[in-house]
Amino acid sequence: MLKSFNEDKELLLSPKNKKLTHVNKRTSRHIQKTFRLLDENYFQTIISKGREEIKKNDIPDKCRISIDDLCLQFEKYMNTVFCALSMLSSKDISCFVIHIPTPSLPQDVAVKQGVTATRHAERNIIDYIATNKDEILMKSIDLLSTNSSQIIIIPIEGRFIPCGFCYEQELLDKSPGGIFDPNKEGLILFRSTKRAGKFYANEIQYISHAGFSSDETQSKALAMKLLSDIKISSEHLSVLKMPLNTDTSFNSDSE
Ligand SMILES: [Zn+2]
Repeated sequence: MLKSFNEDKELLLSPKNKKLTHVNKRTSRHIQKTFRLLDENYFQTIISKGREEIKKNDIPDKCRISIDDLCLQFEKYMNTVFCALSMLSSKDISCFVIHIPTPSLPQDVAVKQGVTATRHAERNIIDYIATNKDEILMKSIDLLSTNSSQIIIIPIEGRFIPCGFCYEQELLDKSPGGIFDPNKEGLILFRSTKRAGKFYANEIQYISHAGFSSDETQSKALAMKLLSDIKISSEHLSVLKMPLNTDTSFNSDSE
């Protein structure tokens, strides 16, 4: 989280600045990518490319939504993002959160050079959605002026691939009882890729389990099972059954 965007603005908008830590470089990249949307021409290009991509891709059967409705949702959401960014850009945007503050690293880990700790950006987004699900759903239905469908698509990371850890968490979000259970009305998570990436070395990743189940005890139990499966490279991990994406084909934006 940025304490004060204005205070850190100069530093964060210079990603090559040697004073930036690895984690701040990541935040800097995210801020620059996000605020680039305020360039009118770039924004219009994103809208037309997004529309083309939606029309080209197969919509999963379970999404139960038409291409036209999907395009409508995409454009309305993007316009909302544009308006929100326009407001934030002229103010102190201390509320612009990409990464949550993480606890200090344990001493024995902190001494190792190059070890970082974070929760990846998409997990922060999903955690926010899971925690405020009812309000988001109500406002989305209102924004999209749709009564014909109570399905709201949450597109995540475009065509980029999630890292192994984020991928496994998303599978739990999409399982029966999870926030993105496709058999229920409500929010549907959509990635246009079905690939997954690697587990990051030298990085401690924090989990977001709020979307695994609406029952807190159950969601914590699922989180503990996932962590234990990862520890022993269990055959229950779906990502281990998928083709390995080599570093050269690794186009993950999951960080
Ligand atoms: Zn990730």
